[in-house]
Amino acid sequence: GERDAVEEVRPQAPVKPMTATEVKVNVSIPEAAERAAATGADGVGLLRLEHMILSTNKTPEKYIADHGEDAYIDEIVEGVRRSADEFYPRPVRVRTLDAPTDEFRQLQGGGDEPDEHNPMLGYRGIRRSLDTPDVFVHELEAFRRLYEMGYDNVEIMFPLVNDVEDVRAARDLMEEADIDIDKRSWGVMIETPASALCVEEMANAGIDFASFGTNDLTQYTLAVDRNNGQVADRFDELHPAVLELIGETIETCREHDVETSICGQAGSKPEMVDFLVNEGVSSISANIDAVRDVQHEVKRVEQKLILDTVR
Ligand code: PEP
Ligand code: MG
Repeated sequence: GERDAVEEVRPQAPVKPMTATEVKVNVSIPEAAERAAATGADGVGLLRLEHMILSTNKTPEKYIADHGEDAYIDEIVEGVRRSADEFYPRPVRVRTLDAPTDEFRQLQGGGDEPDEHNPMLGYRGIRRSLDTPDVFVHELEAFRRLYEMGYDNVEIMFPLVNDVEDVRAARDLMEEADIDIDKRSWGVMIETPASALCVEEMANAGIDFASFGTNDLTQYTLAVDRNNGQVADRFDELHPAVLELIGETIETCREHDVETSICGQAGSKPEMVDFLVNEGVSSISANIDAVRDVQHEVKRVEQKLILDTVR
């Protein structure tokens, strides 16, 4: 099928240390797919859709009004394909659209966006998606097409969920879009304290993975705006409260066979890598430039853990 056409000899990935914890890579723009794959990462831990839409300079609603829903679906299919191809058969975790209204406001069609005092506490991520199913359904349609094309390495991740209600609603919409949820890998980002505290119910609702979005998890746990320079020195992803939420979530997920991962910036920091490997996280997704160092740090921590058990 379609898949065969893209099955070509790829450049040899650099020799990387063998680790039990997988090391993946974050991809923010479709054009970075090749460079990301060349790191030898075990997959994409976070592929953002934002750039694919925002780079058209239109809100999703405006884009669909101007160009039609098929063109909108194509933007996503083509954007995701670049990574799905480069990494095949390694998994590529695609996050559904997550931009705050203040970013959408800058674009054509942005005049229709709600004016919010606190966009970061407002209408973004899964909240917006569930509220605008007419738009969201086209994202899901793009996933369905990718699966039909043979990209069974594509995974679906929902941002800013709080609880099992969000998960059930997203799951229902996937089913309505004819996505076989038993066959596909799908999950959530853990970005709010609520989501960390409610992860057991989400596990029972069928998620396959939970990925820590520590940029937001830190901002919401500490009530420190991630974009406010005034309090930047208080933005601490290694704060005990943040680590406690992460540690507890990993433990609960392990009990329920749910994979855990990190895709926030902190995944590129050695201290966070040490903590996560010790807690037994399944994978760590880092920035392209950090993958190599994270691979070696994971190896170092894993070796130390093994030595500690035989001592
Ligand atoms: C995060 O919150 O850590 C994350 C990865 O998502 P974003 O930075 O896009 O909000
Ligand atoms: Mg986030």
